[in-house]
Amino acid sequence: MTTGPTPTAPHGTVSAYKRHLRNGDRPCDACRAAWAAYHRSLRARASLVVLFVVVLLLSACGGQREAIRETPASPDPPSACPKGSTVVVIGDSITVATSTQLTAALNSAGYTPAINAHSGRTLLRAIEPVAGYNEFHNLRRCWVVALGTNDTYHLPASEWQSDIDTLTAYIPKGEPSWWVRVAIPHGDEFNALVPYPLIDWEPIASELPDGTHPNEAGAKIWVSLVVDALTAS
Ligand SMILES: [Zn+2]
Repeated sequence: MTTGPTPTAPHGTVSAYKRHLRNGDRPCDACRAAWAAYHRSLRARASLVVLFVVVLLLSACGGQREAIRETPASPDPPSACPKGSTVVVIGDSITVATSTQLTAALNSAGYTPAINAHSGRTLLRAIEPVAGYNEFHNLRRCWVVALGTNDTYHLPASEWQSDIDTLTAYIPKGEPSWWVRVAIPHGDEFNALVPYPLIDWEPIASELPDGTHPNEAGAKIWVSLVVDALTAS
């Protein structure tokens, strides 16, 4: 049992990256590089999950190859969301937990926040609000989808892809869009199906007291990561 101060993680580590965010300062180059490397390893892991599912399908289907979905290429990050855009954030209880901080952060980054979050929301229950925002044709808009946790918990994996396709059909092609990674166990199986670049917040597990919802410190990091993704070019 160690007493005394927690050892300080050196720069160039994921821990130090998170410390930067917690302190509200911009991560240094070394820490950003460590974070990017961590992302790459997560993406590689997600691809392995897809490969595993494809192998399972192949063995289950006895050679009915036409039914096999190809591994989606990892999408390139869109260019940054232009300042002055309306940022539509569609979420569940995780977004409810962060919405106060998110509103303030989006405003101060030069965006108009349009946050629509509801506890327990699944993908298909988000169609109505997404379709609603979609009716405003003249808006310069970016999208952040922060859903999938409830689907991963409650719905069979066989439904995830068609529900993702159904929802994203309502988001206009060509409008910069991101998806917040599902961080719960088995989330990577879901994340591998997502057609948008992922915003990663899985490494803040220590700030998720119940394993799913961020506490105040976690919400601060979640919000930083979302705004970071929108503003990075
Ligand atoms: Zn650093």
